[in-house]
Amino acid sequence: MGFEVVNPKALAKIEEARERARRLHRRQTQQANYRNTSEAQKANSKRRYERFASIIREAKARPCTDCGIQLPPPCMDLDHVRGPKLFSPSQWMKAPKLPGMTHEEVVREELAKCEVRCANCHRLRHYQASLA
Ligand SMILES: [Zn+2]
Repeated sequence: MGFEVVNPKALAKIEEARERARRLHRRQTQQANYRNTSEAQKANSKRRYERFASIIREAKARPCTDCGIQLPPPCMDLDHVRGPKLFSPSQWMKAPKLPGMTHEEVVREELAKCEVRCANCHRLRHYQASLA
């Protein structure tokens, strides 16, 4: 059993080529999957997206807890203030699967841990916390 002497630069090149191949394969697979998705599935997926997007929009449609200003939902943040953070509710698609709960229940439970703050107050709050 001997050791092979390898050139680290050559190894890196091989790894880069492998990564390019993986990316190409991933893209081709995703494109093929998309082509094989029926219109009904696409419509379903769009409805689901709209439903969760509106849950988040509604949750953000209230005045800032700190300054009382109410801006359009994209300018309002959901600030975790209670309990452990499992995920960011605006990233509802990344919500974990929890036994005995629907996806919507998991998202709503996470929302209940949050207060609504405008982006400025949210930043300030975390900045001040970083100084403490
Ligand atoms: Zn504010």
